[in-house]
Amino acid sequence: MPSEFELIARHFRRPRDARAAGVVLGVDDDAALLAPTPGTQLVVCTDTLVSGVHFPADTPAYDIGWKALAVNLSDLAAMGATPRACLLALTLPSADESRVAEFARGFFALADQAGCALVGGDTTRGPLSVTVTAIGEVPAGEALLRGGARVGDLVCISGMPGLAASGLSRWQDGARAADDVAIRHLLRPQPRLALGLALRGTATACIDVSDGLLGDLAHVLDVSSAAAGLPLGAEIDIAALPRAPELAALPEDRAREFMLAGGDDYELLFTIPSSSRALLPALAGRAGVPLAVIGRMTSGVGLRCLDAQGDEWKPVRHSWEHFRP
Ligand code: ADP
Ligand code: MG
Repeated sequence: MPSEFELIARHFRRPRDARAAGVVLGVDDDAALLAPTPGTQLVVCTDTLVSGVHFPADTPAYDIGWKALAVNLSDLAAMGATPRACLLALTLPSADESRVAEFARGFFALADQAGCALVGGDTTRGPLSVTVTAIGEVPAGEALLRGGARVGDLVCISGMPGLAASGLSRWQDGARAADDVAIRHLLRPQPRLALGLALRGTATACIDVSDGLLGDLAHVLDVSSAAAGLPLGAEIDIAALPRAPELAALPEDRAREFMLAGGDDYELLFTIPSSSRALLPALAGRAGVPLAVIGRMTSGVGLRCLDAQGDEWKPVRHSWEHFRP
């Protein structure tokens, strides 16, 4: 069985990461040394994935590697940041080399696509869990924040929310087809990095949808209300939500619940001034993902979902929460 140091040397130390721009010293010493680009601010985030909580226990190792990085790059995307480097804290039940190799393959497939160097981490034994810390850069003062939404702004979403929730329900029903669009979206989410960059200077607020569209929109309302010093609400037009073909066969209430309260989509939810609406097609083109206007910011507290008739529809829940009984 390989030692911790052999595992790191074989699977996680790569010459290309040591040569990446801004990396003075990567995996090798007690800590990494990075040289930030002058004029930028560092954007730093971390997220843990626990087996059986954040991914099904029988998830392929490649997909665990991909997703552990993807959820962090999604947070950088939501800030409008460019990824630079990351750290990987890995807790493994055993040193199963073929699974570690597959994990590393998935992790680096996305790291290389995103230009993010692995510059350090930690390797320990215990129940499977993966913590990634990601570091990005943004020109000083240009980060996308949650707190800038104003009354009258349009609420927009990328991609097709609800796809991951439908993937999870298919997985739980035993579906395993590698080409199942919903399952692929669940296991290998694409962080919307190009969109985050494209939205700088246009979006008034931005958040990534990790827990559920309504729950994450509520965070934007909270922070933006506090920043504006007056209560803000939002109205969502259910008919305007882009609906994945994978949701077509579901009962209407279930499809709505997946779109509005399903977690794990890693799409960007953002607001723009209504005067910027005409920019959306060009932004979608630059980002390589469809964008839709799904509602508007209102004055007064409250988040309402309206159906095609203008009647309010109330979801059972707004999002995923770890500590809810
Ligand atoms: P220390 O005992 O000083 O914490 P470690 O032996 O844990 O150092 O790590 C040695 C080097 O390997 C460090 O540069 C650390 O960042 C890196 N490292 C450890 N685990 C990983 C991992 N899973 N992925 C990438 N780098 C790692
Ligand atoms: Mg250590």
